[in-house]
Amino acid sequence: MEGFEPPRGGTKNRCLTAWLHPNAVSFTKTLMDVISEFELFARMDIVSISMKIIQIAAELAPIAKVGGLGDVVTGLSRALLKMGHELQILLPKYSCIRALPPFKKSVSFTCLESGKEIQNTAHLGEVEGCDVWFLETQHPEGYFHEKTIYAGDNDPKRFLFFCHMALEFLKKEPAEYLLHIHDWHTAFIPPLYHAAYSKDIEVKGIVLNIHNLEYQGRTTSRYIPKELLGKDTKNILEKLKDDHASFPDSINLLKGGIHYADKVVTVSPNYAKEILTVEQGFGLEDTLRKNDKKLIGILNGLDTGLWNPETDPHIPAHFRPDDPIDVIVQKKRENKKHLQRKIGFKEENKPLVSCVSRLVPQKGPELILGGLIYSLSQDAQACFLGSSPVASLQKKFETFQKELFSKEIHFHFQYDEEFSRLLYAASDFILVPSLFEPCGLTQLISLRYGTIPIVRRTGGLADTVFDIDSTHIKEEKKNGYTFDSFSLSALEETLLRAFNRYNQHPEEHQNLLIKGIRCDFGWEKSAKEYLKIYQSLQG
Ligand code: ADP
Repeated sequence: MEGFEPPRGGTKNRCLTAWLHPNAVSFTKTLMDVISEFELFARMDIVSISMKIIQIAAELAPIAKVGGLGDVVTGLSRALLKMGHELQILLPKYSCIRALPPFKKSVSFTCLESGKEIQNTAHLGEVEGCDVWFLETQHPEGYFHEKTIYAGDNDPKRFLFFCHMALEFLKKEPAEYLLHIHDWHTAFIPPLYHAAYSKDIEVKGIVLNIHNLEYQGRTTSRYIPKELLGKDTKNILEKLKDDHASFPDSINLLKGGIHYADKVVTVSPNYAKEILTVEQGFGLEDTLRKNDKKLIGILNGLDTGLWNPETDPHIPAHFRPDDPIDVIVQKKRENKKHLQRKIGFKEENKPLVSCVSRLVPQKGPELILGGLIYSLSQDAQACFLGSSPVASLQKKFETFQKELFSKEIHFHFQYDEEFSRLLYAASDFILVPSLFEPCGLTQLISLRYGTIPIVRRTGGLADTVFDIDSTHIKEEKKNGYTFDSFSLSALEETLLRAFNRYNQHPEEHQNLLIKGIRCDFGWEKSAKEYLKIYQSLQG
């Protein structure tokens, strides 16, 4: 057996270890038997090898969600669980979480900071079928007791401490782990692990997911817990040094994560290419190019159990993807009437365009507003759901709302998941005119709920939405409308195409809607790609 390379799994894999041990090979087996069993194993789906995966993130849908990050952590975790893997999630215990699950157990542990012991407790609860450890701290700075998930300028300190807590907690729960970390909030884990925890915790590999490169965790090196990094401090600070420093001792947590993680995954194949360019690299393009061998793009999936128009309790008329077209069209109409009544629109068969979005420059607020106003001018109805961390942007939208005096446009400036579900089910079109978009989930949700996406062809939007009028896209892939230029005229031209088809060729519109509903953007395929990555780090 010596020199025998196990297929994919690696020698530490539990299923194979027994086979590799010479004494474990039955005398009745010939070498050929063993070889053919290995071949069989190699052909089996990789999902048959169970792994212990720890997801560490700042968000988790639905209890601690701000955007797509929360959806992805929950969706991917549920898909991995379904495939038979052991999975746990580490999340800060934010005081602002309204629906904490009951705790099954609690574990106390301490973190040493500047010579002082900080008391912490990890509480185990279940969210959407996943085991979640809520990490609570009695840190004197009151971390995670703020009113919102993110707390602005204090965030680097809060999440640096979360990274410290996460590793200290894992040290108390010995096992072989595969760590899957998300965004800059957790990007200090790889350097901290290498400097201070590699002797105490057996980690098979660290996968860093970048959900949005714009957010990098730039801060001052003063916040770095140098006493933990010990002799590696100088080296690590050098690697974390921000290339575009706004102040002399600026460090960049995401840059450090990219450098020290074993794999870096972005949330769509197209975005993985875009971020290597100066235009979309947000200053990290050189770091990413230097690490391009470990960079890969995997398209986000959609949790079709949590986003399901057949069972969604927040929509009045339910339908299944395989219902006949006329049934689906009828159900969509009922949902639309319900929404129209709810928000005071006329119950007419006009195209209804919606947008569900965080209001930040990335999402193209000027195009969102321009597109909604243009829709009104074309006798459509328009609805916006979103809120903004940028006060001036929201103010601008609010001012327009007051000035428009139209009964056919509705603005709802809040985070409101229930209302978002009704919008996805009741609208005819959803607008996603982003300046850049790592993956985007709103277009995937709307496709599943029978609402046709109108998107700018960037990032993951280009990987998921294919224009009905394009001459070089296969018919079966076409599921929406796209435009390239980040301009109001390009958006207006696209909206006009969509409205014309809706008004003049309703059958074509309905066929497009059905193709969208039947697209498969579920997690299974993407989760298998993540598994391949985890697998490659096992051996
Ligand atoms: P991002 O993560 O950049 O905000 P995504 O398209 O990846 O964008 O994910 C957005 C997620 O947040 C979707 O699930 C969307 O429905 C949800 N969402 C955004 N704004 C709101 C809001 N105001 N109310 C409810 N859900 C929202």
